[in-house]
Amino acid sequence: MEVLEAAFLKSSSTVKQCPKPNKPEYAFIGRSNVGKSSLINKLCKRKALAKTSSTPGKTQLINHFTINNDQWYLVDLPGYGYAKVSKKLRSGFSKIILDYIGNRENMMCLFVLIDSRLPAQKADVDFMNLMVENGIPISIIFTKTDKLNQKQYAENMKAYEQELLKLWEELPPVFYSSAVNGEGTDEILSFIEDINNK
Ligand code: GDP
Repeated sequence: MEVLEAAFLKSSSTVKQCPKPNKPEYAFIGRSNVGKSSLINKLCKRKALAKTSSTPGKTQLINHFTINNDQWYLVDLPGYGYAKVSKKLRSGFSKIILDYIGNRENMMCLFVLIDSRLPAQKADVDFMNLMVENGIPISIIFTKTDKLNQKQYAENMKAYEQELLKLWEELPPVFYSSAVNGEGTDEILSFIEDINNK
């Protein structure tokens, strides 16, 4: 699938304000600076569809975009675990994120973005584990793969995946992406298309 049309629909500060759940949607989440906006823009072949906030983690908004003439929604969720937000937000995952995830019946997959350069971070692993324990369909996207050489990349990915396999018997779908060279975008969009066609 190619994204031929993408448009911002609305920002919601509560799940109630979100658009009617009348089509499949795919949500993207990760810590601030993981490369979420860059990846969304790359998937949609747009320069500034998803905007990077100058004060990361501060605005807790759910952003809906319509894709390919309203066939599905792409959802940009607020970042989690960012050190500069209030203690309340930092401790655990903000209410808006948990409300969204627990109450959005049309959410087909939650893509959790992880910086491929970093060793497994507790906030990310805790978050993913909470999702898996609650039966939320997640996929992992390791971002910024262009920043590593082949050897570092292979080592990091192996170590990260082994860390996760201590928790789970098998890994959810995993993607590797770069907003610089476009790695992973075709795979992610094909994965979405397959679910939409089921
Ligand atoms: P967000 O806060 O998760 O939305 O992250 P951004 O998309 O704003 O990216 C944070 C920083 O990482 C920016 O300086 C981006 O240019 C950079 N960045 C994002 N994705 C990539 C990538 O795939 N490769 C490289 N080299 N840099 C990236």
